[in-house]
Amino acid sequence: MIEFEEALDVVMKSAFSTGTETISFSDSLNRVLADDITSDMDLPPFNKATVDGFACREADLGVELEIIETIPAGKYPEKIIMADQCSRIMTGAAIPDGSDMVFMVEDSHILPSGKVKCTVPFTKTNISAKGEDVKTGDTVLKRGKMIKPQDIAVMAAVGCTSVVAGKMPVVAIISSGDELVEPAEKPGISQIRNINASLLMAQIQRAGASGRYYGIARDNEEDTFNIINLAISENDIVLISGGVSTGDFDFIPAVLERAGVSILFSGVNVQPGKPTTFGTHPDALVFGLPGNPVSSFIQFELLVRPLICKMMGHQWEPLTIDLPVSETFNRRNADRMAFLPVVITGDGSVSPVEYHGSAHISAMALADGIIAIPVGKKSIEKGEIVNVRQV
Ligand code: AMP
Ligand code: MG
Repeated sequence: MIEFEEALDVVMKSAFSTGTETISFSDSLNRVLADDITSDMDLPPFNKATVDGFACREADLGVELEIIETIPAGKYPEKIIMADQCSRIMTGAAIPDGSDMVFMVEDSHILPSGKVKCTVPFTKTNISAKGEDVKTGDTVLKRGKMIKPQDIAVMAAVGCTSVVAGKMPVVAIISSGDELVEPAEKPGISQIRNINASLLMAQIQRAGASGRYYGIARDNEEDTFNIINLAISENDIVLISGGVSTGDFDFIPAVLERAGVSILFSGVNVQPGKPTTFGTHPDALVFGLPGNPVSSFIQFELLVRPLICKMMGHQWEPLTIDLPVSETFNRRNADRMAFLPVVITGDGSVSPVEYHGSAHISAMALADGIIAIPVGKKSIEKGEIVNVRQV
């Protein structure tokens, strides 16, 4: 059994790159940029009105102004603003030459003569200057970034319609256990629903990879071996949940070895998730995850998610926040590093959710995050600052 930090190190060092491919920017959500993206133009591309109003010279603000043109967005102004003149202008339209400000429609008064006057003594310029957001050639998105909706917006703005991205690792999911039935079925006596396949599929997708479900391996060595063998040959990563503890039917480690997997660790000094097993095969990296859903969930977040990201070229860091705990927490045994589900309360503190152990998946659904309690630490005092990791 190894400590968590060492396990993470072993997993990350085993990462291999999945390579890159060119994809449409519109399909790039959650993918990782393999190249910097630069802008082919200034943004804004011209001096632009940020309000509907009247473009004039600042020096003429208190004067009755002749309206010489109407400039909608998308039309380039034809007339130059001279003294005592202005053009009616719409949000997003190009500022006419000769003017250096726009006063808002709301601050204007049209006179019977047809002229217009600004009704306030001063205003902002209401002009967004050419290139003030982005200059031609600027790097707008850096390689290694995991693409969010707002990044896709930036790509649209700079005309980057195809991007080179890290290939999505293909991740196999195998559930193990004679007691499992699929979620659509009503479990018979002593059966339970297969939670982990759906859980891991969602986690894989959130991590930016592609999941493939191989079904339930029944608790016999032949069935388990055949599924694992197939999954290893067809995927970059294989996740098997269940069958890794020390019960009579927990023969996953033996089957992995038979399938040619070199086991790098079997057992991590964490709670939940102690039986977590990891090994490498020339065709795939293989995890044996604990059967209890909270354990599987947490071990995926801790070990599999950063691995997936690294394989795509992204150095993933969990989002964390330091907050005080609202009540004292004690544990009897401090031999293992523990992860606890917590909620962030309205007053900016954090409190543990009622949690009965690693089968209690509904506690995880209530949690905003998890906190780690290091080896050797038996209690967290009320008011102590803890690092909450969003999950
Ligand atoms: P195991 O590691 O196979 O000994 O399983 C540990 C516990 O997790 C047992 O209570 C199993 O019934 C449960 N379990 C195993 N696989 C799953 C699964 N896919 N979904 C929900 N619970 C599971
Ligand atoms: Mg089992």
